Amino acid sequence: TFRFRPVIGNWDQQRAEWLEKYPHKRLTAQGRPRTILVTSSPPHQCEHPTGDIFQLRSIKNKIDYGRLHMVDVYYNMVVMEMDGFWVKLPIIRRLMLQHPEAEWIWWMDSDAVFIDMDFQIPFENYQGINMIIPGWDDAVYDRREWIGLNAGIFLIRNCQWSLDFLDLWGALGEDYGDHKTIMGEFVSKELTGRSGFEIDDQAGLIWLLISRPELRPQVFLESSYLLHSYWVGVAPRLEEMLAEFQSGGERWPFITHFVGCKLCSGKYNSTSLEMCEDESTRAFNFADDQVLKPYGYRHTSLPQPELVD
Ligand code: UDP
Ligand code: MN
Repeated sequence: TFRFRPVIGNWDQQRAEWLEKYPHKRLTAQGRPRTILVTSSPPHQCEHPTGDIFQLRSIKNKIDYGRLHMVDVYYNMVVMEMDGFWVKLPIIRRLMLQHPEAEWIWWMDSDAVFIDMDFQIPFENYQGINMIIPGWDDAVYDRREWIGLNAGIFLIRNCQWSLDFLDLWGALGEDYGDHKTIMGEFVSKELTGRSGFEIDDQAGLIWLLISRPELRPQVFLESSYLLHSYWVGVAPRLEEMLAEFQSGGERWPFITHFVGCKLCSGKYNSTSLEMCEDESTRAFNFADDQVLKPYGYRHTSLPQPELVD
């Protein structure tokens, strides 16, 4: 059976002993559980001409969020044991083992953007929970939808349960022979709304939760705030959503995710690449206006690099 190396069975005890020695490392100066936000891009230059500036904006957005909320940021540019969609699993595991001070490892795709720089994860809501992921119980468990949750953004607790969970999850995307292709056909048959390409981490995660119900109590499908929101319905409406909020309406989403855009490779799958580029620039500048506010500046308008004070 598939196991990430090194195999570890007593991580909770090891981590508890470490924390006993360094108790002051457990919380941030803001009194919140220590968290490492990890994002990643491929080890090579983007094929699409505007891909690299997109990656740069993406990491700036995360550095800004991390600085404001004392979340440590780790930027990955290598491929460890697993590649493609699966690249996140081994990195997350390495971070857990190397950072016993971190209570949570927070994965965020490079194409996901913080657009509410004030929002903080309500960690107090998650006692007994080891994974927080945007999604809906009925969509995943009743309707088995491939988009019933989104694996582009999630938090996973630094504990033995999570190490074991990563082994089970990683096994589904193990790369030998035709395994990934066969598994891709299998999950496409079992899940609704998926076509038959090789198995991705999101399909694997949903299948794991469906096939091993004992794992569900520790996995919280969060929908009370938007850890993920599909960019198409969000980025074009940012000014509108801000105005709605300012006149007493709901707050805009926490994070928006440029699913389908492939802004680094340029191999878009659903929408026009140009629209993706324009809307991602707007989303970054919308967040950046919140960062710039204390310094007395904002963008003249969302698509523009120019500022007004
Ligand atoms: N990723 C990476 N290196 C790779 C491929 C992917 O770091 O070689 C990361 C990157 O952060 C990306 C995420 O993994 O946003 C998800 O990969 P995917 O290919 O699914 O791209 P997306 O669905 O975000 O377009
Ligand atoms: Mn993504």
